[in-house]
Amino acid sequence: MRAIVIGGGIGGLAAGAALGAQGWSVTLYERAPALQAVGAGISVAPNALRALDVLGVGDAVRELGPVQGEGGVRRADGRWLARSSVEQYAATIGVPVVVRRSDLVEILRGLLPADALRLGVIVRDVRSDAATATVVTDAGTDEADLVVCADGVNSAGRARLFPAHPGPRYSGSTAWRFVVDAPADYLSGETWGRGRLFGIQPLAGDAVYCYAAARAPAGEHADDEAGHLAEAFRGWHDPIPALLDRVTDAEVLRNDVYELREPLPAFHRGRVALLGDAAHAMTPNLGQGGCQALEDAVVLAHHVGDGGRPVEEALAAYTADRLPRTRAIVRESHRMMVMSLASAAPAVAARTFAMAAVRLLPGDPTARVFFRTAGWRPPQQERAATAG
Ligand code: FAD
Repeated sequence: MRAIVIGGGIGGLAAGAALGAQGWSVTLYERAPALQAVGAGISVAPNALRALDVLGVGDAVRELGPVQGEGGVRRADGRWLARSSVEQYAATIGVPVVVRRSDLVEILRGLLPADALRLGVIVRDVRSDAATATVVTDAGTDEADLVVCADGVNSAGRARLFPAHPGPRYSGSTAWRFVVDAPADYLSGETWGRGRLFGIQPLAGDAVYCYAAARAPAGEHADDEAGHLAEAFRGWHDPIPALLDRVTDAEVLRNDVYELREPLPAFHRGRVALLGDAAHAMTPNLGQGGCQALEDAVVLAHHVGDGGRPVEEALAAYTADRLPRTRAIVRESHRMMVMSLASAAPAVAARTFAMAAVRLLPGDPTARVFFRTAGWRPPQQERAATAG
């Protein structure tokens, strides 16, 4: 059985690897001339680490990063709104890691045979009929038993499959990301102010992954983003101003955040599947977009298996598994964005009160949300557990 994957991001690489492990012959088309790792660092939650375990590289990724979890959520003056600890994570959902994106991409690329990658090829069209799926590229036409569109938030594959869907919508927030050289012994977590937030995630090797987000109109840019950030976070608790002192404008990546607020009716049509941001782009406020792409990849491979089952039937099972879960996470991420970027004084006061109150409730509801998301197990592990 042969599969074509469109897109060499985290989702496409993982899908190629997962299908390859089931014996599929895989060709992956990526429009960029080299695999890209846009976005500095990435938090890999326990659910995604379990998906990576299925691909055989979970421990390799765990070894890349210092364990996360010691920290929590603070106010701009440094007072804690919520605390978390490594022990608490270990005892519940498992411990997340934060890694450089380039390292994660390199590990995933290593799972694919070198001749599977076709870099610098743009896919122009995707079609599916009863017997085959076809992609049209700049280089010609290619056919396979299955096509996976992992072509990101602006997916042309999605628009082709579901032309009536309104597509991605601006979330109202913009995000900045960068890595600075600094001692990595800071506590990890986020600081929420009025209409903006700042995140700190220590990486291995005396480096720190930082991000910020704010409410802003789409398309806005500063001449000097680093200077803009230093101004926006002036007076916030240590070490935020010190970290911002170390970054130059050229090192700061800024992206407006788009999301698929309206869920798709399905993640497949015929022999074509959608995966990752193409299927369910979400705001980054739960740190789950890439993690869900990794989940998609192993669930897709689980359903299509070694090709013994009709592809359309397997893809219907993939949609049934993935759509309800990711729809809920897209919604939850959006809610988290609204809460963390609240700016009106009454909304900020209500947030502070609610976060204090929630910690006093039995069975902390916030912890339940995180457990639902990050406590996920791949079907391959569920099957092994049942058999065991
Ligand atoms: P992409 O990474 O967008 O890859 C799509 C690929 O397809 C690209 O390489 C593109 O060049 C290629 N392509 C597109 N069209 C074509 C075509 N026609 N032909 C050939 N190739 C094509 N997620 C987490 O899990 N943890 C985090 O901590 C986290 N932090 C984030 C922080 C920010 C600020 C943002 C914006 C996102 C964050 N995310 C995080 C989300 C995560 O980055 C995305 O969900 C993830 O990268 C999506 O991967 P993907 O493979 O689906 O899409």
